[in-house]
Amino acid sequence: MTRDRQRIARDHAFDHALGMDASISRRDFLNGVPIAIGGAAAAGLLPDFLAAAFAAGQAPQDAPGYYPPVLTGLRGSHPGSFEVAHSLRDGDFWSKAGTVAESGETYDLVVVGGGISGLAAAHFYRARRPDARILILDNHDDFGGHAKRNEFELGGRVALLNGGTLLIDSPKPYSAVADGLLKTLGIDPVALTQKCTHRDFYPSLGLRRSVFLDQETFGADQLIVMSDGLSWTQLLAQSPLSPQVRSDIVRIEEASIDYLPGLSSDEKKTRLANMSYRDYLLNVVKADPGVIPFYQKRTHGEWGVGIDAVSALDVWAFQFPGFQGLGLKPGSAPHTGYTALGYAGGGSYTFHFPDGNASIARLLVRDLIPESVPGNTAEDVVTARIDYSRLDRPASPVRIRLNSTAVRARNVGDPASSTAVEVAYSRGGELNSVRARTCVLACYIMMVPYLCPELPERQKQAIKYLVKTPLVYSSIALRNWTSFKALGVSSVHAPGGYHSSLFLNSVVDIGDYRSPRSPDEPVLIQMIRTPVQPGLSERDQNRAGQIDIFNTTFETFERNIRAQLARILGPGGFDPARDITAITVNRWPHGYAYEYNQLFDPEWPEQEQPHVIGRTRFGRIAIANSDSGAAAYTDSAIDQAYRAVQELLGV
Ligand SMILES: Cc1cc2nc3c(=O)[nH]c(=O)nc-3n(C[C@H](O)[C@H](O)[C@H](O)COP(=O)(O)OP(=O)(O)OC[C@H]3O[C@@H](n4cnc5c(N)ncnc54)[C@H](O)[C@@H]3O)c2cc1C
Repeated sequence: MTRDRQRIARDHAFDHALGMDASISRRDFLNGVPIAIGGAAAAGLLPDFLAAAFAAGQAPQDAPGYYPPVLTGLRGSHPGSFEVAHSLRDGDFWSKAGTVAESGETYDLVVVGGGISGLAAAHFYRARRPDARILILDNHDDFGGHAKRNEFELGGRVALLNGGTLLIDSPKPYSAVADGLLKTLGIDPVALTQKCTHRDFYPSLGLRRSVFLDQETFGADQLIVMSDGLSWTQLLAQSPLSPQVRSDIVRIEEASIDYLPGLSSDEKKTRLANMSYRDYLLNVVKADPGVIPFYQKRTHGEWGVGIDAVSALDVWAFQFPGFQGLGLKPGSAPHTGYTALGYAGGGSYTFHFPDGNASIARLLVRDLIPESVPGNTAEDVVTARIDYSRLDRPASPVRIRLNSTAVRARNVGDPASSTAVEVAYSRGGELNSVRARTCVLACYIMMVPYLCPELPERQKQAIKYLVKTPLVYSSIALRNWTSFKALGVSSVHAPGGYHSSLFLNSVVDIGDYRSPRSPDEPVLIQMIRTPVQPGLSERDQNRAGQIDIFNTTFETFERNIRAQLARILGPGGFDPARDITAITVNRWPHGYAYEYNQLFDPEWPEQEQPHVIGRTRFGRIAIANSDSGAAAYTDSAIDQAYRAVQELLGV
């Protein structure tokens, strides 16, 4: 055999051992086919079921059995959802597009974007104008925006995970508006947490958090289980880390040393606000550089970037180690970023539905189009089977039109005096326009300049500043979780891994929904990847991560999922070829709203902040979405929807 052939044979055997050729639920709707519909040069690749429906001249969501939460493979920004928007961005959309057909449909409000902000905007509008007719457009095959649900049938019962937005949680208390909306929807986070959440279940089985050190980064594979009562010296005793690195980690985690003596608490906070956690560890704590890989990805989940790009003050607010001896007073400091503000001043209540905040989106849809979502409580919505064919019925005062990318939102006449807005959208390669008295753009804010090229230049430039943070949440169905039990872990942080964390699904029982209790039962786990480029500014890291996600195939995600699980869980008896039964990769290249970062961004007066300039109403078009609050949280999505609607109703 030539060397090439040997390599190919080796790769083949490796893939086989991982189960890359195993028959699981993962590619069902992946095999896109190029389509050209109705003479229009329809863009790109579409999942088979969408292509088939469009080819038959049917709106896919009206087809019997249409139920996107159960789709596996590449979800989040799924094939078929983004190509039109990218073509608009690249400037070649209109030259290839056919003519826009005037549908003759008229509404009081057209909302672009069916995430929580867009749905909330429709709710707030109807609260003031109960007879209003509203159309909501979204480019995805499901509503909810980031608040999406992954639904599986495992062992004869429904198993749920959040595809994006995880839970009700914010660094500041929910505003009266956001809290009021939750109440209207029947959500009482405090009562639901008490009744439905079982945070102590995994600990009661002896399962703990853990850290996996990989050979490539640390010299050897090792799983460190955070067992009760062990000191850091004991935890690291068998680790491949050098004695100096071990002793510095012990110092960071346990020692109570004032590394900034002679300064007041406020002065210390100001210093910490202006240095990254990485610089704090290296230059203030004077730790060996070998500790950095151990901590580098700790911030990935919350901030989407590593410790090089998050301030020491922000991570102090999240109880990261190394600050025990500084004597910092609780509460916010003059220079804390958004995320630190809520600390000790009181963040919001929290609650996690089994599908994350997708349940909030479902409750909003029930509020807007009751006949589409059976049931009447915040508990029964979890297992409700939505009838997608009822979302866009002509007789309904509120309509949700999926698979529809808005390509233009234009004030009819001069924005200052216009009386209507024309919104054009592309669905299945066909272009249609509708008219409305008002419009809320609740889509990603960076789309706005492409939808409204007439926007003032200053506003367009401000919007360009806001680069969203990319993330990938993968949901993986396992035959059982005996390997977790054998290893004594419920979650793993993997500082050197392709995915930086993985965990067993949270245990929540709500309505008819039950979480598995026996390790022999099938379970869902989640793996999180945040592609970054340490050393760049946060915005540049976000850009690099977006490209990374865009260029990564499902096969690559799958191979990494399998290989990483095999290495971490293999010693507990896990076999990826045997134990993985389904994979859904939710990729969010346009994930978290951009939150200002004091390490890289100027401190503008409030009215000069890019998101404040960027969200300025333009005639009869107002701008919502959590982006326009510069806060990647559901309460921001709701608050901004409310503001946008108030602006329009004041017109
Ligand atoms: C992975 C992930 C985890 C998160 N976890 C949490 C959490 O635990 N708690 C929390 O509070 N927040 C969380 N967030 C933040 C989350 O963004 C907000 O909570 C909230 O869901 C945002 O809602 P939105 O409606 O503002 O935006 P989105 O959810 O982004 O909705 C906007 C919608 O507009 C659509 N759109 C864009 N352009 C067009 C167009 N041209 N035509 C039609 N439609 C268009 C988009 O595709 C999208 O569907 C998370 C975000 C991500 C990505």
